[in-house]
Amino acid sequence: MSFRNWFSGKKRLDLSKRSPAVRSLIKKTIAYLRRRAEEDPTTQIRPAMLARAIGENEMMALTALDMLQSAGVTKAHLGLYCEATMHRMGEVAPGRPVPEALPCDACPGELHDLDAGTMRKEIFFTLDPEALAELKEAA
Ligand SMILES: [Zn+2]
Repeated sequence: MSFRNWFSGKKRLDLSKRSPAVRSLIKKTIAYLRRRAEEDPTTQIRPAMLARAIGENEMMALTALDMLQSAGVTKAHLGLYCEATMHRMGEVAPGRPVPEALPCDACPGELHDLDAGTMRKEIFFTLDPEALAELKEAA
């Protein structure tokens, strides 16, 4: 699966033709995102974090976040993290190449890179709190 897929967007969330399992997944996801948005509207959601919170596997969590992106509620980003500390080192803009190496604030004087295994890339999502609030009826 390509990261590029997660940046495509339509505009609507139509659950009418979805299975009860998917509807339930989306409802749990929306409830979780609302709690997170109340605490911090600029929060960053990682699929693994959502998966643990709603008792689903990571692929299902990613599916839910992608469906909500199509509805304009979430937005995917590709984050770059220090492998040792999970400190966030930066973000790759859609369609741009991943930098070969980056300096790390958490490890003074060190450059980390993906090939050496000292940097990892991971998808995270940001929220549009207004779009999330408007989803009430659709969900
Ligand atoms: Zn580091």
